[in-house]
Amino acid sequence: MDESVIHDNVDIAIIGAGPVGSALALGLAPLGLNILLLEARERMQADEKRTLALSQGSREKLESFGAWPDEAITTIQQIHVSDKGHFGQTILTAEEMDVPALGYVLRYNSLVDSVLKALNKTDVRVETASPVIHVTDNDGYAKITVGGVKPRTISASLAVLADGGKELTASLFENSHDSVYEQVALVAHVTCTKKHTGMAYERFTQEGPVALLPFEDRYALVWTGTQERISALLALADEPFLRELQNHFGYRAGQFLTVGPRNSYPLSLKIVKHLTKPHLICIGNAAQTMHPVAGQGFNLGLRDAKALIEVVQQFQRQSLGSVAFNDAYVSKRRIDRSFGIGLTHLLVTGFSNNYPIVSTVRNQVLSGLTIFPPLRRMLTKVMLYGVTGILK
Ligand SMILES: Cc1cc2nc3c(=O)[nH]c(=O)nc-3n(C[C@H](O)[C@H](O)[C@H](O)COP(=O)(O)OP(=O)(O)OC[C@H]3O[C@@H](n4cnc5c(N)ncnc54)[C@H](O)[C@@H]3O)c2cc1C
Repeated sequence: MDESVIHDNVDIAIIGAGPVGSALALGLAPLGLNILLLEARERMQADEKRTLALSQGSREKLESFGAWPDEAITTIQQIHVSDKGHFGQTILTAEEMDVPALGYVLRYNSLVDSVLKALNKTDVRVETASPVIHVTDNDGYAKITVGGVKPRTISASLAVLADGGKELTASLFENSHDSVYEQVALVAHVTCTKKHTGMAYERFTQEGPVALLPFEDRYALVWTGTQERISALLALADEPFLRELQNHFGYRAGQFLTVGPRNSYPLSLKIVKHLTKPHLICIGNAAQTMHPVAGQGFNLGLRDAKALIEVVQQFQRQSLGSVAFNDAYVSKRRIDRSFGIGLTHLLVTGFSNNYPIVSTVRNQVLSGLTIFPPLRRMLTKVMLYGVTGILK
């Protein structure tokens, strides 16, 4: 590429227009900065089949950005948590927490679409088919090399990496943790004989967690298991698949009747060692890619975006990406991020085995949550708002 052909200077360049990068762009839009959002895909509309469960805290943030989707959302009123083959179980309810819902289930695509709709009303420049190839520190700004339809070099006071933890993150940031779980997630929509009435199920099994999230007139199923097991389940015809699901999950949600197309996702835990480099910060899945068991990936990523917006508001334009700026961001995210990652990892490792001591402890924890409402409310608050929610 002839880098001398086109140059571009911006205050903030956001790399990746997934839900986290787009929400960040939207939250930054009113601040009067020159912002550019770069997306590798040919079109902004995403083509993801899966659904996401968003927390009440995420709803409040998206509403404040004017990007809360107004349709195709199902509320979670209660969450039933159980441990297969053991007595431990608990139920978390929106009523107890005095919130309209414990969570909201919607399609990944609807979320991206609604953020984009709001973005279109702002001055943020959005460019598709613009994969970023490299970012370097160029003495006072980030030098961004863009390929695709309009190859060029961009200078940004701050580059924000929100590529979902893909190749660019891997080439720029060292991981403190990078492990593939021995689990894969199978995702599908299923219908049952019982109406869901806003009930979500989180069931821990020896193979891995299974979640049923209420979505429209059905459930969004996330079934985790070994690669072998999930491959076998993907290969089954609908009827035997539903029988396997029934055996595995039981009859709490009634009898499983139909299943839609099934997809699978490899699961890993990747954590970058340092969140920042000079004039470069990574957020969302670029900063931490987690197991979907607790439905925390996007919720945590949105809190990254919100914290970054607050730091941008605190600093002068000329200090974007400076050492002090980066330190302020890192310190804002330290506790909530560590806690979110730690809790998710604990749920995966502590609830996916049958070691006698571990199984006794986790069943006592689940029973403890039922017996001690303050403990249950504290955990639910963390789910709703992150660890800072405990102070609410
Ligand atoms: C099965 C499953 C279920 C999940 N369920 C939940 C849930 O219920 N709740 C929840 O909160 N989270 C959930 N998650 C996690 C959630 O999907 C992610 O945390 C979230 O999508 C991260 O958003 P992001 O914008 O950081 O990254 P992504 O969604 O991965 O978006 C990254 C974007 O960057 C673009 N890009 C990549 N490389 C480049 C480049 N070089 N240049 C320019 N653009 C680039 C990509 O095209 C993409 O648009 C789930 C994940 C899985 C796998």
